[in-house]
Amino acid sequence: MKSLYTEIESRLSDLFQKADDTALYLTERVLNSMRENRLSDRHFAWNTGYGYDDEGRRIVESIYASVFGGESALVRTQIVSGTHAISLALRSVVKPNSHLVFATGMPYDTIHKTIGISGDSPFSLKAMGVRFDFCKPMVTNKIDQAEVLSKISSDTGVVYIQRSGGYDFRPAIGIDEIKSLVRVVKDKNPNILVLVDNCYGEFVEREEPNHVGADLVCGSLIKNPGGGLALSGGYITGREDLVNLCADNLTAPGLGKGLGLSFGTVRSVMQGLFLAPGVVASSLKGAMFAAELFESAGYKVCPRGLDFRSDIIQSIELASEEKLKEFCRIIQGYSPVDSFVEPVPGPLPGYDVDVIMAAGTFVQGASIELSADAPLKEPYPVYLQGGLNYYHAKLAAIKAFEAVEAFV
Ligand SMILES: *Cc1c(COP(=O)(O)O)cnc(C)c1O
Repeated sequence: MKSLYTEIESRLSDLFQKADDTALYLTERVLNSMRENRLSDRHFAWNTGYGYDDEGRRIVESIYASVFGGESALVRTQIVSGTHAISLALRSVVKPNSHLVFATGMPYDTIHKTIGISGDSPFSLKAMGVRFDFCKPMVTNKIDQAEVLSKISSDTGVVYIQRSGGYDFRPAIGIDEIKSLVRVVKDKNPNILVLVDNCYGEFVEREEPNHVGADLVCGSLIKNPGGGLALSGGYITGREDLVNLCADNLTAPGLGKGLGLSFGTVRSVMQGLFLAPGVVASSLKGAMFAAELFESAGYKVCPRGLDFRSDIIQSIELASEEKLKEFCRIIQGYSPVDSFVEPVPGPLPGYDVDVIMAAGTFVQGASIELSADAPLKEPYPVYLQGGLNYYHAKLAAIKAFEAVEAFV
């Protein structure tokens, strides 16, 4: 008789094959970009001071732009996180006193203070006189286009899409859905910019949001595109004039992309990008495996094992605070780093409720490495993501499953 785990893998075999096919396709894209740009050993050296002639920095940005389908890219360690990339993009392209529409509902918690939904930062969009409208919360991965169009007014400058669900129990928005929304928004008014929070979505599908018409796309290097090797940083890709605005805002007007040291990060950022399609495929397989496993015991999961995916996140409703803590304890315990640490819920900058996090990672907080986290609220969904290889993701999912099931 087959074990439950083997049984699950056979049910998922077509989707595992599809993930491998996507990784092969994307590896070729990344490789071709590195070949065309003539990435070379000399780019891994770095200089000092202004970094005017930092060839490594230039080539990283050129390769990111071509891989992501943008005209230009800003890829910097000076962008400290995904939140910073998104905040920088918003504060660079949203005009004072204009209007902004959030097409996928309330954005991720850490963006709230940038918008001015909470806090009273003088640098928020609200402080710039920007008005905003939120579409209703997403429950499926279909955007209500009629609702988005109904919220657009003559002074709407930007429509914002969050691809991944973040801490919402909803599936990610697929590239086809983004493409279709871009089309209807541009039909209504071609001057409206579409900005995408691409966190956790990179390399899950064959195309990225810029390929289907999004103007600016933002994300974190310690998630998917860093492949587990990038030590820090964020990226913005898209239309050249808009990326230049972001660069002027990051450095100084007139300085733009022309300076800023790479601080020796070029090798790990490029090696991570090279590995990223494969790492993302491993993470996806781990997520599918966990989904099928927990659903087989009656837990509500999102997305379900065989569902369409456009990010690497797996949410599992554990329905009890004790089970949630146990789940996180096991994920931490089966991590290569800090396995002896007990995760405890606590406040986190940018979040309104206490958050519990299991992340025994080589790169602090890197959620392309296997990690689990959850804001402590009913019905206690946990968000599981990452896995540098499938074996680790599978092993930890099994251990967590056994522990949670043994729990009464
Ligand atoms: C992770 C994430 C971000 C950015 O988070 P950082 O931790 O600042 O990199 C933004 N949006 C979503 C949906 C995310 O998952």
